[in-house]
Amino acid sequence: MDIRTESSTESSLEILRVWPEAAICHGFIGRAGGVSTGAFASMNLSYWVGDDESAVDANWERIRREAPGLNLVARLNQVHGNVVHAATRDTAALRPAGDGLVTAEPGVMLGIFTADCVPLLMVDSRCKVAGALHAGWRGVIADIADAGVRAMLKLGARGSDIRAAMGPSIGQCCFEVDAELGDRFGREIAGAENHTRIGRPGKAFIDLRAVVRDQLERAGLAPANITSVGPCTRCASDRFFSRRAAAGTTTGLQMSFVGFAA
Ligand SMILES: [Zn+2]
Repeated sequence: MDIRTESSTESSLEILRVWPEAAICHGFIGRAGGVSTGAFASMNLSYWVGDDESAVDANWERIRREAPGLNLVARLNQVHGNVVHAATRDTAALRPAGDGLVTAEPGVMLGIFTADCVPLLMVDSRCKVAGALHAGWRGVIADIADAGVRAMLKLGARGSDIRAAMGPSIGQCCFEVDAELGDRFGREIAGAENHTRIGRPGKAFIDLRAVVRDQLERAGLAPANITSVGPCTRCASDRFFSRRAAAGTTTGLQMSFVGFAA
């Protein structure tokens, strides 16, 4: 698999991409290059975190200039579960509760918003089916990755053809949780104990992206078709929003998106 990491830094905007085909519109958008201020500085694309609406409008204008495919973006009311919705041109504006979107309609873009959780983009370019998932620890325990793959299969994708990319999210270096949660990961997710290490007394560190990779493989994806791009959001909080870096307070959210060109 030919993986290319591209960073578009025009106007200090940063978009990480992994797939070279022009027909696949996708990217993990960084926090730089927007006009929002304070905890939302600067490329916040979420209207639902308390940011000034006109600033978010301006950010959207800017991002659409940079990525012209982003006209019709289906979004979710993300709730840390494993419900995946199929989006079409007609339903794209609904914003249902859930943590995954899939589509078989070129021109419909799928947008996922995060600030430490794992954004996961998937494509099957043979049948032009795309998927985008939000995987925080609750979603990982609920196996949102498996639900997302299944939803793509329903739309005609083939497991062996699906490529997946995980984007900037909190790394094991910074994802310290109570040891009980680390134990729960080990109990409830096969192989997760390999991606958890003991921390200070009563604490553990979880490698979320590694756990999700295992889940994707169990869902039928080829290991060579799974990639990961971008740093730990907390370590690189100057480039990406991180809730942990902001001591748990509300921050802006970065958007990751995927879809096929119309
Ligand atoms: Zn880190």
